[in-house]
Amino acid sequence: MLNVVIFGAPGSGKGTQSELIIEKYGLRHISTGEILRTEIETQSELGLLADEYISKGQLVPDEVIIEMLGDILEDNKSIKGFIFDGFPRTLAQGEALDKMLREKNTSVVAVLNLAVEEEVLVQRLLKRGEVSGRSDDNLETIQSRLDVYHNQTEPLKAYYKKQGKLFTIKGDTIDDVFERMTDTLNRIL
Ligand code: AMP
Repeated sequence: MLNVVIFGAPGSGKGTQSELIIEKYGLRHISTGEILRTEIETQSELGLLADEYISKGQLVPDEVIIEMLGDILEDNKSIKGFIFDGFPRTLAQGEALDKMLREKNTSVVAVLNLAVEEEVLVQRLLKRGEVSGRSDDNLETIQSRLDVYHNQTEPLKAYYKKQGKLFTIKGDTIDDVFERMTDTLNRIL
């Protein structure tokens, strides 16, 4: 299976690039943020819980996210691979993902790290907030999401680097970044 993690700070373009990769490689997109927003819309128990964290720019607790992921992976037996977008976000989630995939005799093949300057991230997220209607695309929440990213999510880079799976991608345009990502994936395949 071709299992890819798309990694990066909020606003780094994970969602946009995931869509392009799915189209090219036929992978199943798993965006934990999108799943949680759907749960919030339907006002499920999970959605109500998640909303308390999301609206403050904090992470939803690991055990909630890991259980949710376990259910989704169970549901997908005959697919080419997954693209994980916004997951894992903590070391505990990274270790849980490895374990869940190992149980399916598969693993993460590559972690594509989208490197974008902090100023650009903030501007993008503010701009997105004008149209997205997302409760977390405002200046105060953006700042806490970036702090959370640096403190809790970034340590995963070292985790994947040690495994030889981290590929850092830079680029100024969507096309630029996508081309570099496909070059990287084609080299690995
Ligand atoms: P995203 O759409 O990936 O930017 O996620 C939006 C928000 O959903 C995040 O700021 C978190 O509050 C929550 N969230 C999404 N994915 C995760 C995850 N893997 N672990 C914890 N919280 C998450």
